[in-house]
Amino acid sequence: MSNIQTRRRFIEVVPFVGIGMLAACSPKVEPPAPTVSAPQSPPPTAAVLEPASAPVVAPAPPPAEVVQNAAPAVLPMVDEKAIQAVALGYVADSARADKVKFSTYAPGRQCSGCALYQGKAGEASGPCLIFAGKQVVAKGWCSSWPKKPDSD
Ligand code: SF4
Repeated sequence: MSNIQTRRRFIEVVPFVGIGMLAACSPKVEPPAPTVSAPQSPPPTAAVLEPASAPVVAPAPPPAEVVQNAAPAVLPMVDEKAIQAVALGYVADSARADKVKFSTYAPGRQCSGCALYQGKAGEASGPCLIFAGKQVVAKGWCSSWPKKPDSD
């Protein structure tokens, strides 16, 4: 083999030897290991998401003993000018009863002696079955007056 052939052979071989040596000396690159993600925290609850404002709290019901001892609601008085009162001739004072229009009136008849009166004896006013949800004056009167069994 001549010198020229030897050089050519060297030139042909060197690149491949260099590549091989580079490959052998290079650090091995391993594929990245699969990453294990940290467990995700649960989604925040509504309490966390709410702004720091005053909570809306429904009022607590009163204790049972308070409800039992509560005073009864005071009913409104019947208005003499209300349609039903006018139709029945109701007056808060039986002395003002229209004796011409309502011939059933008689002196001494008043709500406290009426069978439909629901007030207690001695009280100034009380409920009446004719005027639901209202109170009448004990000394009042209307044309629907029926005698209370134990009065008059
Ligand atoms: Fe009074 Fe009897 Fe007439 Fe009622 S029904 S307003 S208690 S008189």
